[in-house]
Amino acid sequence: MITRSVNRVQTVASDQGGEHSGDWRRQLAGAIRDPEVLCEALGLDAAWLPGAQAGHRLFKIRVPHAYLARMRRGDPFDPLLRQVLPIDRETDAVEGFVSDPLEEAEHRPLPGLIHKYANRVLLIVSGACAVNCRYCFRRHFPYADNTPSRREWEAVLDYLRSRPEINEVILSGGDPLASSDERLGWLVERLGGIAHLQRLRIHTRLPVVIPDRVDPGLLGWLAASRLQKVVVLHVNHANEIDPAVRHACARLREAGATLLNQSVLLRGVNDDVDTLAELSETLFAAGVLPYYLHVLDPVAGAAHFDVPDGEAVELVERLRARLAGFLMPRLVREVPGERSKTPLPQRSAQPGSS
Ligand SMILES: *Cc1c(COP(=O)(O)O)cnc(C)c1O
Ligand code: SF4
Repeated sequence: MITRSVNRVQTVASDQGGEHSGDWRRQLAGAIRDPEVLCEALGLDAAWLPGAQAGHRLFKIRVPHAYLARMRRGDPFDPLLRQVLPIDRETDAVEGFVSDPLEEAEHRPLPGLIHKYANRVLLIVSGACAVNCRYCFRRHFPYADNTPSRREWEAVLDYLRSRPEINEVILSGGDPLASSDERLGWLVERLGGIAHLQRLRIHTRLPVVIPDRVDPGLLGWLAASRLQKVVVLHVNHANEIDPAVRHACARLREAGATLLNQSVLLRGVNDDVDTLAELSETLFAAGVLPYYLHVLDPVAGAAHFDVPDGEAVELVERLRARLAGFLMPRLVREVPGERSKTPLPQRSAQPGSS
């Protein structure tokens, strides 16, 4: 598999005139944003195009070439393609699948700040993502329109300074690493100046989608921070981990980061025991520990990815028989109003009650 993906990378790189070399910003700007181009690049049957266009009108396609290079040509069921290719079922209205499943809007004391859990807060650093994942619960939020200005960040910093119970700050988005190193370096330095903060966590898909994002600029501000650093990657399938991703993971660890991974359990992508076992093993080989396996947030347009709770619990039980204990992700759901993620199976007889 490794050899095959290396070959694919080389093929696409030469097709695209060195799209993979160095500059992550160019790769970000050069991502595929047109359903027709995506279908053509992979040699998909034209029958997939109308669905792709219909979904694209709801939530734009975005696929960087470095990610495309890990997909199998001509296979509409490739597990990486499934995550980014819109299909006509996105336009179905399904009961219970809504636009703000986590009710995050209620936990925003300031622009850019989500404070739901006791000792940790989430900062929305960037509205942009390197890839648009079809199952994303943020698909209905134009975060790009409202990332905070420097003055607004000062208000967030004041909020953190006045709350000694907060010991961990999570950079989120969108994808926080879509932001510039200048802005990130500034913010992280300020955070490091708040004495009661102990940890900096970064939730990102960029080192997976465009591994060249992990460059000297990023590693510089990361390594310089006195805070303990945790990078939570987002990988759903072992095929996403190629040599470039392994290299990026190694650099992040050298800069002092502990690497964890969260996945989403997705119908047609990773909803079987073999795939989940291979994912955990491949992550650990890259120096990444499995952290969470999320059940899908019920966001409108993503119902076709849903795996029912009973099946999810059974899958994870079978996975337990296959893996070392430390390679087992925790199966969780996010329930609006709860003080933490909610483990499955829930002890309560009424799943989803809060
Ligand atoms: C998931 C989440 C966190 C982090 O929770 P952990 O269980 O510590 O990973 C923090 N804040 C918000 C709003 C979250 O959704
Ligand atoms: S926030 Fe994460 S899951 Fe959602 S589109 Fe961006 S990278 Fe994908």
